[in-house]
Amino acid sequence: MTAPSPVPADQTTPAALAPAWADLAGQQAAVEQLSRAAAADRPTHAWLFTGPPGSGRSNAARAFAQALQCEVEDPDRRGCGSCHACLTVAAGTHADVKVLATENVTYKIDEVRDLIALAQDRPTSGRWRVFIMEDADRMTERATNVLLKAIEEPPERTVWMLCAPSPADVLVTIRSRCRQVGLRIPAVRAVADLLVERDGLDPDLALFAARASQSHVGMARRLARDEGSRSRRESVVHLPLRVKATSDAVAMAKELVEVTQQEAASSAEVRNAEERRNLLRSLGLAEDEKVPAKLRHHVKRLEDAQTARNKRAVHDTLDRAMIDLTGLFRDVLALQLGTDAELVNEHLRDELASYARAASPERTVERIDAVSTARRRLAGNVPPLLALEAMATSFLPDRILDRRPPDHP
Ligand SMILES: [Zn+2]
Repeated sequence: MTAPSPVPADQTTPAALAPAWADLAGQQAAVEQLSRAAAADRPTHAWLFTGPPGSGRSNAARAFAQALQCEVEDPDRRGCGSCHACLTVAAGTHADVKVLATENVTYKIDEVRDLIALAQDRPTSGRWRVFIMEDADRMTERATNVLLKAIEEPPERTVWMLCAPSPADVLVTIRSRCRQVGLRIPAVRAVADLLVERDGLDPDLALFAARASQSHVGMARRLARDEGSRSRRESVVHLPLRVKATSDAVAMAKELVEVTQQEAASSAEVRNAEERRNLLRSLGLAEDEKVPAKLRHHVKRLEDAQTARNKRAVHDTLDRAMIDLTGLFRDVLALQLGTDAELVNEHLRDELASYARAASPERTVERIDAVSTARRRLAGNVPPLLALEAMATSFLPDRILDRRPPDHP
C-alpha cells in the first residue's frame, strides 16, 4: 500500500495536489494561490475569479469551496474530493455553499438581496459560509451597490467568490475589495494530459480533442469521450469547404442549425445524467434507488436548474460552432501566410492546404470577419438562419463572390 511509486529520480514530479484541484489543467499559479489560502486560518473574505470562457472560473471557485469546507485535518490535504463536505459541494447540496447563477441577462436585485441576508447567518455545518456568484459581470449597478455593502462589512466566516470574464467586467469598487485569481487559457498539452490522467482517455484522441476545442476543458472532454459529438463537429468544420454556389450557402445555414440542435440535445442529456448521479451519490443514494420524500427537494432543484439551462443550450452550442469556424479560417490563414503554427484542425491539414491555395489571405480575413459578425448578431437574438445565411454567402468561392470583370486576373 505504502510502497513508493517508481518514479525515475531525474524526472520532476509536481507535489501531489488534493483531488479537488485536479480539474484545473494548466492553472498552477491559481491552484497554488488558492490551496495556500485554504490552508490558512483566515482566508480573504472576497475573491474575484477571472478568465476566458472554458478556463474554468466557476470550477476553480468550487474547488476552493471544497478545500475550505473539507473535513480533512491536515490543511495541506484539504479538498480531498471524497469526504462528505467535498462531495456535497461538488453536487451543489452543501448547506453552507450557495451558488448563484442566472439564466437572465442580469441578476435581479432581489436575488442579490436574498443572498446577502443569508450571508449574515453563521455557517450551519461547515467552517465557512461560501457564496459563489457566477457571471458577476451580469449585475446591474444597483445590485452591485447592494453587494458592495456586504463585501465592505463582511460578516464573520463568510467568503464571497465572484466570477467574471475579466477584472474590467466588474465595477472598480468591487474589484478593489477582492483578491484576484486570474485563470488563463491552458496549453493544449496541459488539457490533453488532464484527459489522459483523469479520464483515462487515449493520448492521441486527447490531443486531438484538446486542440480542436481550443483548450476548452469541458468541450475537450466531451469531444474525446463522445463519438457523436466528434462527428457533429466534423460536419460543422466541413460545411464552409463545401460551399460552391449560392444554393449551398442557404443549405449550409440550415444544416448548421440542425447539427447544433442535435449537439445541444445530446450534450444536455449527458451532462444532466452526470449531475443527477453526483447528486444522488452525495445524498448517499444508489442510482436506481427511490428518492425519499425528505430529500426530493434537492432533486427538484437540480431538475429546475437543468430545465432553465437546456433553454440556453442551443444558443451556447451555436456559439461554440462559431468558435469552431473561426478556428478553421485561422488555420487557413496560417497556411496562406506560411507560419508553422500548429493548427486547431491539424487532422485536416491537407484538405485545408488545398482550400487555402484557392483563396487570398484577404478573403480569409473577410471570412473571419463574417463569422464574427454572425456571432454578434446571434448574441443579439437575430433569427439564426438569417444570420448564418449572410455569413455562409461570404464562403462562396472567389470567382462567384468577385464583382470584377471576367478579364481581370
Ligand atoms: Zn474533503
